[in-house]
This record gives sequence, C-alpha cells and structure tokens, in this order.
Amino acid sequence: MSQKDLYLFANWKMYLGYDESNILANALASRAKKISPRVRLAIFPNALSLYPAGQVLRDVSIAVGAQNFYWLDRGGYTGEMSAAMFKEAGCQYALVGHSERRHVFNESNHDVRQKLEAALAAGLIPVLCVGETAGQRKKGETEEAVETQLRSALSKLRLNGKKEIFIAYEPVWAISSSGSGQACSPVEAERMQNYIAKLAKALLPTAKIKILYGGSVRETNVADFLSQPNCDGALVGHASTILKSWLGIIEAATSPRRGEAKAGKTRS
Ligand code: PEP
Repeated sequence: MSQKDLYLFANWKMYLGYDESNILANALASRAKKISPRVRLAIFPNALSLYPAGQVLRDVSIAVGAQNFYWLDRGGYTGEMSAAMFKEAGCQYALVGHSERRHVFNESNHDVRQKLEAALAAGLIPVLCVGETAGQRKKGETEEAVETQLRSALSKLRLNGKKEIFIAYEPVWAISSSGSGQACSPVEAERMQNYIAKLAKALLPTAKIKILYGGSVRETNVADFLSQPNCDGALVGHASTILKSWLGIIEAATSPRRGEAKAGKTRS
C-alpha cells in the first residue's frame, strides 16, 4: 500500500529573531535531502524573516507561510500586511485563527472568517486553527466550542478554485506557551479530529480537507498522533524552533513503526 503524504508544519511564532530564523532555515535546507519526499514541510517564520528564509527553503522544496495578516488588500492600515502581500513574498500557506491570535489579540470568529476569505482570495492555502480552552473542556463544552469556530469559518465559504484546506485541531490547554505543556492524548485528539473531519466535510463537501494535530508535539509523541486515522500531520510550535528537536520530529514521523501503523489505518 502506498503511503500518504505527511504534513509537518512549523510555527516559529515570535521565538526567533531575524538572524536566528535565517540560520535555522539554512540549517534545515542543508539537511533537506535526507528527509523523506513524502513529508511535506512548511515553515511559518516571523514576517521580517519570511522572505530571506523562504528563498533558501524554496530551493529545497520547503514551503513557507504567513503567521498572520490583515483581510483587506491594501490601503491606509498602518502596520498591517495583506494576504496578497504574503503571497507575493513567496508564501504558499497562511495560519488563520491561531489560538494566540484569538485569545491574546482578541480575534473574533468574524475576524477569522474575514481572514479565511482573504487567504483564499489571495491564493494562499489556509491552515485554520480550532480548539477549546481548558475552561470550555472542564465545562464539557469542547465540541460546542469547536463547532462554533468551524461553522463560523466554513459555512457557505467560497473556495475560489482552491480545493485544499487544512484544519489544525489545537486544544488551547495543550499548547506549550499558553497551556499546560501537556499534549492531548492521541486517542482524545483522534476523537476530535474525527468530529472535525465529519463536520468540515458536511460544511464544505467539495473541499480536500486535511487535519493536523497541534499542541506540545515532540519527537516522543509525534508518531502516536500521526498513526490516528484522521490525522494528516502536525502543527508544531516551540519544538520546531530547535533544529535537533525538529529533525527528531521529522525522523520519528517517518520511522518504520509509524509506517506500519499508517498502512493499516482507515479514515472515517
Ligand atoms: C502552536 O501554537 O501552534 C503549537 C502547536 O505550539 P506548541 O507546539 O509549542 O505547543
């Protein structure tokens, strides 16, 4: 049985400066030949480092993406950058609705929807992030929280000829910077990934939806997440900013143990 592509996306957030980002991009590029061709990598550097890092990564077929952008194309919006500008600078992907945007910068579901539409209009492949807070989980509102985010983002969304949409299930409490630093259990992640896959398919029947897990992914747990039937890859924050741990994650994701698990899995 041929193995599916695996998506490993690195959200560098604001962890690395300009020089650090370029050094890490060069280090990754110099090791790219050793990475299995079925691993599709994308790096989301800070906006200042994105162009130079992207040039180096492009040569070895590693994509780059925007961490954040404004939904209008151009105009008097001091300090903002549009999706079209990120596309012009070489981006293929854009994160939309990351929990740090939602909870630190108060982005509403309406803002997320506007950004999703702008990303698609600019020709970027969106990586929509959804997930419940610790409080919502405690109150038994996990599905409700995720359902609200998904319905608001995807209902009657025009795909503008794009078919591919990534949805990252990122429980806020599992993200290393804002949560407990404890990953969700792979079984619980799969329960939510299955829920997300079904709802997203109902909302966008013609889209090619890929599901990622995000939240404290490490070399030691990535294979367990990826062996779940509804998981196409991982969105990794902190661990992706350290060369050794990022390469360890990539290696663990493609280890024979994972290959065996994946070959037998069936998506719902
Ligand atoms: C994230 O914020 O998207 C994320 C997955 O972070 P971390 O891997 O650091 O938990």
